Amino acid sequence: MRKKYNLLVLIIVLLSVIGLSSSTADAAAYPKLINEKVEQKAQIGDVVIISYDYYPAYANEQMYVEVFNTNKEKVAKCSKTFYNSSLDKRSFTVSLDTAEMQPGRYKVVATKYYYANNAWHKSPTQTVSYITLKGHVHKYDGGVITRKSTYYRAGEKKFTCACGNSYVQSIPKKVLEPVTVKKVNSKKKAFVAKWSINSKCTGYEIKYSRRKDMKNSTTIKLGRRRFTSKKITGLKSGKKYYVRVRAYRKRNDLVCFSKWSNIKSVKVK
Ligand SMILES: [Zn+2]
Repeated sequence: MRKKYNLLVLIIVLLSVIGLSSSTADAAAYPKLINEKVEQKAQIGDVVIISYDYYPAYANEQMYVEVFNTNKEKVAKCSKTFYNSSLDKRSFTVSLDTAEMQPGRYKVVATKYYYANNAWHKSPTQTVSYITLKGHVHKYDGGVITRKSTYYRAGEKKFTCACGNSYVQSIPKKVLEPVTVKKVNSKKKAFVAKWSINSKCTGYEIKYSRRKDMKNSTTIKLGRRRFTSKKITGLKSGKKYYVRVRAYRKRNDLVCFSKWSNIKSVKVK
């Protein structure tokens, strides 16, 4: 059997001795749970408080509290002996530090011994209560940004629990807003496309095709943010063309694209 209980802190605190008539004392009197906390729920790391009171029958008595796990192994114990004490009502509190305990349901048994006829006797009744101990549940803080997101790279935010456990959440990359093709004017064997400006980009790509699904398309790259129109020449007279534009942003070798714009069609002159 694991003798783990010596690691645990289990303390009895004598709260108070309340003045009541001792004539109500009974040899079999046993400790009564205060607040009827027969079942308690706790989380590992909590200090569980169990309070009792009782009427003593003898001046010399001992309260003995034991905690058992589901395998009926004793995991904690403590005792409090009253020597030559008054026979007034006695209250005491047990505090159980659960930091070293495993999750599970624990049985807490309080037994009274009394000294009479030159010997210690065990009171016939015991007071039993239970503690359901759950594993530690992390409670994370609001998070700290450890890496800012850019148009090229996701950021990171770190959330930490008081126990030291932490996790990192990704912050999505910044999104480059798409542009809108406003109009495409027909010209002689050419067209002029105009679109809205994107103030965050470093340039645009214009894609045009004879097909609505944009297959077999041609792409023209424009490396200026302020150039929001483009004349495309060398096209076939009388044919319909489909046009769309996207913005891009470039830094060194990193490129970020917006989504493609709407598609506009034009029949060239
Ligand atoms: Zn935690």
